[in-house]
Amino acid sequence: MGIYQRLIPKQTCVLCLEQAKFCVCDTCAQDFTNSPQRCQSCGYPITRHLDFCGQCLSHSPAFNRTYTLYDYQGSIAQLIKDFKYNQQFCIGDYFAHQFYDLYQTLPHYDAIIPMPLSKQRIKERGFNQALELLRKIKQKTSVTIDIHSTQRIKATQPLFELNPEQRRAEIKGAFAVKPMPYKKVLLVDDIITTGSTLNELASVILKNTEVECCDVMTLSRAE
Ligand SMILES: [Zn+2]
Ligand SMILES: [Zn+2]
Repeated sequence: MGIYQRLIPKQTCVLCLEQAKFCVCDTCAQDFTNSPQRCQSCGYPITRHLDFCGQCLSHSPAFNRTYTLYDYQGSIAQLIKDFKYNQQFCIGDYFAHQFYDLYQTLPHYDAIIPMPLSKQRIKERGFNQALELLRKIKQKTSVTIDIHSTQRIKATQPLFELNPEQRRAEIKGAFAVKPMPYKKVLLVDDIITTGSTLNELASVILKNTEVECCDVMTLSRAE
């Protein structure tokens, strides 16, 4: 339970300060946006009636599908930052409920794999945000949440500042995987931006294990 929940007996919306069931109220949540048309593969917003973006048509990523809840902008961007960097776990709890609702609409997966963080990053942050976001799914379903089969063995610099070639070089060798007895897995992260990190994780899993299909679930899709 987050420190906010211990200190404040009733939840107060962190955005408008009204009392609410969660620390984000329904009224404020109406301002969150999610593009109606997204590339099925990487989640990039597309306006035309296509299934995939140009990038995925020319180089399809190692994962098949991306499911996401929000455009990365405005108050959503701020809430994710407050959750990740300011340890506002009540926001994580709100997102965990939204993630559970999304997960209920997805096909079956043999396991969920939260994006692993390097030991150094865990030490700095104190928690893995992807794992924290799975809290409700863990409580309410029997799906395997596997945090042991994948490891981040290299801390990387932020990838969005790099060009595609530099990104691939930076992320290469970042993950180690152990054998896992699944066919279909769902990779989970808080944000998908370029997709390079999730692509590398999916590639390493597909290459080195029995897994045949990786999909992706994120809170938010940045452009
Ligand atoms: Zn509110
Ligand atoms: Zn795409």
